Amino acid sequence: MQVRPQGLYYVPADAYIDPHDAVGRAIITHGHADHARDGHGEVFATPETLEIMRTRYYLKDETQETGLAYGTRHDLGNGVTLWFASAGHILGSAQAVLEYNGTRIVAAGDYKRHPDPTCTPFEVVPCDVFITEATFALPVFQHPPLEAEVEKLLRSLRALPHRTHIVGVYALGKCQRLMKTLRLAGYEEPFYMHGALKRLTELYEGYGQDFGAWELVSEIPRADKHVFQGKIVLCPPAQINDRWSRRFADPLPTVASGWMQIRARARQKRAEMALVVSDHADWGDLIRTCEETGADNIWITHGRVEALQYALEQRGMKAKALNLIGRDESVE
Ligand SMILES: [Zn+2]
Repeated sequence: MQVRPQGLYYVPADAYIDPHDAVGRAIITHGHADHARDGHGEVFATPETLEIMRTRYYLKDETQETGLAYGTRHDLGNGVTLWFASAGHILGSAQAVLEYNGTRIVAAGDYKRHPDPTCTPFEVVPCDVFITEATFALPVFQHPPLEAEVEKLLRSLRALPHRTHIVGVYALGKCQRLMKTLRLAGYEEPFYMHGALKRLTELYEGYGQDFGAWELVSEIPRADKHVFQGKIVLCPPAQINDRWSRRFADPLPTVASGWMQIRARARQKRAEMALVVSDHADWGDLIRTCEETGADNIWITHGRVEALQYALEQRGMKAKALNLIGRDESVE
């Protein structure tokens, strides 16, 4: 494994994992924009990830696609076998498992251990080398159960029925997970949605997810401001305070993100309510996962790399920083 300008390169298979530039052969762990880029000659991913990439125009006609369902082994040539294990991050998200010469390397991509009704749970794969992210690798990050954050939103809706609750969510994963969790908590009103969230929500529905009734804000006549009062409007985070949000009566800007545990970030987004909703492993889960893989070597790709490296070394694990650039939850 090498760190090249294009990203993580696996020499025996002549393949990159989540490269940030166009390459000949790419293994893609999931569809978020900081992992899935366009212009590759050959792409290996789960069928769900391929469909997400197609929806976002990351695949060209000439791209050679190989879709591998979780657990399906594929011969990459030169004695290398590739298979995907679920990562619990978003729909279709996967850890890339590479086997060569009796050594198993697992590149986890982004992952989380908290339950998520919109994707397959994380699978621990015993391995020799575990390549992990470190997005939320500081002891301060202990993500609360999503049910508690959703309850906070539902309480606010009951207490402030005259206000339009405008919730900023990333279009891929966060939006659908929040809707599903609200439904499971008994919320029955229709969701109102910014157009940017439509296609990916429909894609999830195509995989059997049921979000109940939702409508596009753009399909409601402008004069009907009262329709949204006491309801949930979902939009990309940048829209909670911009011109778009002025059409709503008495808006209550809310952001749902893993970063919302940091008050300064919530203030910076000018959010009146902050919901801690993360699609990444928190501090405890990062360490636990590294331990559970039983890997002799842990390589850390991006995020709070030094903090995680230090904590793993304190626990007797061999850890090193790969210092990959160009990855951030906020890129999405
Ligand atoms: Zn991601």
